[in-house]
Amino acid sequence: MIKVALLGGFFLFIAGLCLSILGLIPLIIAFIPVLIIISLLIYGSAFICSQMFVPAVCQLPRPEGTLLTFDDGPHPIYTPKILAILREKNVKAVFFLIGRHAKQHPELVKQIQQEGHTIGNHSMIHRWYYGFLPAWCLTQDVLQFNALISEITGKEPTLFRPPYGVTNPPLAKALKCFPRLHVVGWTLRTRDTVIRNPQRIVQVIRKRAKPGNIILLHDRCAATTEALPKVIDYLRADASLRPVAADFFILEKP
Ligand SMILES: [Zn+2]
Repeated sequence: MIKVALLGGFFLFIAGLCLSILGLIPLIIAFIPVLIIISLLIYGSAFICSQMFVPAVCQLPRPEGTLLTFDDGPHPIYTPKILAILREKNVKAVFFLIGRHAKQHPELVKQIQQEGHTIGNHSMIHRWYYGFLPAWCLTQDVLQFNALISEITGKEPTLFRPPYGVTNPPLAKALKCFPRLHVVGWTLRTRDTVIRNPQRIVQVIRKRAKPGNIILLHDRCAATTEALPKVIDYLRADASLRPVAADFFILEKP
């Protein structure tokens, strides 16, 4: 589909260029298909749930419950606090860890697994230029992370969330090597990395959470940690929003 769109855009550009050389249309018109294709590619890369390049789970298969996901840990201060809250409230979640942090805090990785949560792959280093890496580099990254977590916990992650939710053709190519890996996006982004007021995070969830949502949080933020008890209490008060474990919806790929 993408190849057809690219090819179509290219031919429209060439046709427009010929017409503009003949003086039938202004040159700027010839570039419109190129601009449209570039915009589509940027949109598809930036929004994981566009599913333009990679199929991703962005919503629970049934509108029942919500899934809490925590990215970017483990953090030496906030992850233990978040684990304690989850333990006290008897809630299971998914932690999309960064390999570099997992290496520094293997005891937290073990604790996450021992307390019944699911560990997902969120890349080794979470590079800002992740979206510009070639496929072979992305393949190596997934392999290194999964080997590291297997070494610490004895279990290989089957969930993957790319840094920043970036998906593109090199990632699609890399993920072909990992047919058992589920790519997981989100439905509700709380923006807890920029919101400093815990009450504001609670408000975002109160206002926007719907049954079947996958909620994106970060276990490296003080405000998230402070907001979490109220977030869980709010979700649990409504049976259709109660937090559920990852195995509730993840079906093993054949
Ligand atoms: Zn992240």
